[in-house]
Amino acid sequence: MPNLPKSSKTFLGTSQARYEVEQMKNNIDGKGTFAYFGIANGLQRCVNEKLHKNGIIEIRIHADEAPVTKSGTEHLWILAGKVPFDPDIYKPFEIAIYDSEGKPKTAEIFLRRFIRELNILQQDGIYIGGKHLGVTLKCIVVDTPAWAFLKNTVGHTAIFACERCSVTGEKVEGTTVYPSTNAEERTDDSFRGFQQPEHHHGTSAFLRVVPFLNMVAIFVLDLCIFVVKE
Ligand SMILES: [Zn+2]
Repeated sequence: MPNLPKSSKTFLGTSQARYEVEQMKNNIDGKGTFAYFGIANGLQRCVNEKLHKNGIIEIRIHADEAPVTKSGTEHLWILAGKVPFDPDIYKPFEIAIYDSEGKPKTAEIFLRRFIRELNILQQDGIYIGGKHLGVTLKCIVVDTPAWAFLKNTVGHTAIFACERCSVTGEKVEGTTVYPSTNAEERTDDSFRGFQQPEHHHGTSAFLRVVPFLNMVAIFVLDLCIFVVKE
């Protein structure tokens, strides 16, 4: 009966996750706090190992930011994980949370522990209930600000912003428009090779994930808006 919670802890939503709050600089005045809960921790709490007969746990990562209050400037940057499964029985779990008036000073410091743990899990797998399971990253779901931040690319209104192709945008009355829909496709190779340098702010921590991610296809936008110039 996969729809039943794995344990009372899952049912009650209680957690034994241990974490420490650490200082992590932001991009404004340097003040920010960070807590890392971990991927393995979340998987241990939710996954029912008996249901994964193929011996694999897929994980989907969600990255987003959210204001702490309606009126204040403080907000959270959140990395969460979810195990996609049919039926959809697993709730999302927290992986890392950053709390500040700005965003983490660099994506590198925000992602360092996550990338390190992801690589270990994808290489070694995880033991849950005495069973060894492989772990595979399926996709990373992001909105446009998180997309640019995590990949360390230019923001979504920049001239060379398009994630999927190398189109050159134009500014029209303060709005960036992308006048062509047949520009050269952006590929994992072209991304890793910095073939359009203007697209990048610098190197992305996700380039270190092993096995290598397809740096274009692995990121999925949770909202797509296209502006086509007439
Ligand atoms: Zn495009």
